[in-house]
Amino acid sequence: MNMNLVEIDKNNIWHPFTQMKTADNPLVITKGKDALLYDDKGDTYIDAVSSWWVNVHGHSNPYIAKKIYQQLQTLEHVIFAGFTHQPAIELSERLLHYLPHQDKIFFSDNGSTAVEVALKMSIQFFYNQGKEKNTIIALDDAYHGDTFGAMSAGGDSHFNDPFKNHLFKIKRIPTPVVGREKECIKKLKKIIKNNKVCSFIFEPLIQGAGGMIMYDEKILDELIAICKKNNILCIADEVMTGFYRTGKIFASNYLKNKPDITCLSKGLTGGTLPLSITTCNDKIYNAFLSNDKMKTFFHGHSFTGNPVGCSAALASLDLFEKKETQKNIQRIIKHHTKFYNKIKNHSTIENIRMKGTILALDFKTQNDTSYFNSIRDRLYSFFLDRKVILRPLGNVVYIMPPYCITKKQLYKVYSVIEEALNTFGNRSK
Ligand SMILES: *Cc1c(COP(=O)(O)O)cnc(C)c1O
Repeated sequence: MNMNLVEIDKNNIWHPFTQMKTADNPLVITKGKDALLYDDKGDTYIDAVSSWWVNVHGHSNPYIAKKIYQQLQTLEHVIFAGFTHQPAIELSERLLHYLPHQDKIFFSDNGSTAVEVALKMSIQFFYNQGKEKNTIIALDDAYHGDTFGAMSAGGDSHFNDPFKNHLFKIKRIPTPVVGREKECIKKLKKIIKNNKVCSFIFEPLIQGAGGMIMYDEKILDELIAICKKNNILCIADEVMTGFYRTGKIFASNYLKNKPDITCLSKGLTGGTLPLSITTCNDKIYNAFLSNDKMKTFFHGHSFTGNPVGCSAALASLDLFEKKETQKNIQRIIKHHTKFYNKIKNHSTIENIRMKGTILALDFKTQNDTSYFNSIRDRLYSFFLDRKVILRPLGNVVYIMPPYCITKKQLYKVYSVIEEALNTFGNRSK
């Protein structure tokens, strides 16, 4: 039976980000509960990466499940052009309450499409006004998704080599990590002077897939201020940072200068269903209002505003508004801080950092920090053998747990990382 499932999988299924020729057999997961995943061999794993960063309240949360079931019995889906429904309306009210600088909500299905929508809004905003401003600025090492616009906005990555000639031109500035702030500002000003820039897109405070690169809110505030002064729209891609990953509900809450557009997905539905939202302010929205049909935002997906997804998102917000969830988030931050202080001087660590519920560290290696680093595969297997799911990005190991993770589970995660530091320390080449 077990072998059968894997055999059929191998015959039929092409997995994401996976070299199918050399990949190990996938694990067959039969059940998920809170921070744990169970496989068909009777093994239990701690999901320390929240299943690709989406899961915030733990697996198979009964409250979200109940709300989804109720919605499915009432209205599973309806076309969203010319029609609307209660879950989308209620979600718009509640989300905009948390994003006071935003006025409108546009739905799509995943993080990449939320970014596509944001980029298209920012380009058409100026087009509709007859202004020739269409250059987009992005940060080095950025990741915004895998569709073409999102790939274009992403940092140079070998993953995109086959498509290089098909990506549109983007202007890049260095990620303003400590020591590179001045260079970043200088480059931004130079690009603005020589180009007709429509927007600046960034992952606020933490670049996720780029390697959990963290930078300060003060420098981001400065970059946004420069953009605003030059009539450039600012797009905060909060697909990963949203929903308390940084300790606050949105990373933008750390900023004085607020973005014009925000992209949300991943934690939006509590990690249960694909749904995403691009929010914008009325300045942008109003530029699309016209008797001229050609100024319409001609964008939409079949499942735009799916009621079941919206109900899951509402249930997730209910849970976030519970004291217990907020306590859990603070508890993770407290334990992360302790672990950070305990291991920060370990000789195998090159760079350790944390923000909110995310803790990341670089394993010292001779090679450059690339995904293809062999240490990545060895670390991944090392953790999996110890029943902890951690997916290093190259030599970067990070923890991004569901907030319901128990203290005991969290310390198990810490202990396998410490064991890896001691094990790989002397023999990593
Ligand atoms: C994951 C991610 C995306 C893409 O989201 P998908 O749902 O995988 O398409 C976009 N931006 C950021 C910052 C992300 O972390």
